[in-house]
Amino acid sequence: MNSVIYPGSFDPITNGHLDLIERASKIFDKVYVATAMNDEKKPLFSTNERVELLKEVCAHLDNIEVINFDGLLVDIVSRLDVSAVLRGLRAVTDFEFELQMALMNRQLNKKCETIFMAPSPQYSFVSSTIIKEIARHDGDISKYAPAKVLSALNDKKKEGRL
Ligand code: ADP
Repeated sequence: MNSVIYPGSFDPITNGHLDLIERASKIFDKVYVATAMNDEKKPLFSTNERVELLKEVCAHLDNIEVINFDGLLVDIVSRLDVSAVLRGLRAVTDFEFELQMALMNRQLNKKCETIFMAPSPQYSFVSSTIIKEIARHDGDISKYAPAKVLSALNDKKKEGRL
């Protein structure tokens, strides 16, 4: 079975992430979408909330499994025995950091290959950070984030946490 792991903060999932997940689900038998706990990044959504949103948004895809992980990505790559790590490239600005991570992960585990996919152009400027910033100022992000995410962001706003 050819499986891939797509790790990220997903704080929260955007249509750009979803675009990549849907593309990967057509190529691989199984796609693990792995939420990094990343408490040091002070995420807006808790790990559980991020996992729940991912599950709801990916419910139409039957070869996706949402998991969370802490620690080194290479360890979970070995444990799950996946063929590769999937990362997204939106623009050249992503490239330097992504290349560094890919090369370091292969230093740590020589079997750890990284593959990159590009989203549809309409999502190439979308990030979780920009989505949160626009939502904070009541801007329209309905083209860039799934409906479940829009309502979760509204809830955070009402709680005064956005
Ligand atoms: P991280 O904190 O690990 O960068 P993110 O959730 O921001 O986590 O992103 C996870 C992965 O998804 C990264 O490889 C990132 O480049 C990619 N990604 C984020 N937004 C998009 C998008 N709009 N289109 C394609 N890939 C994306």
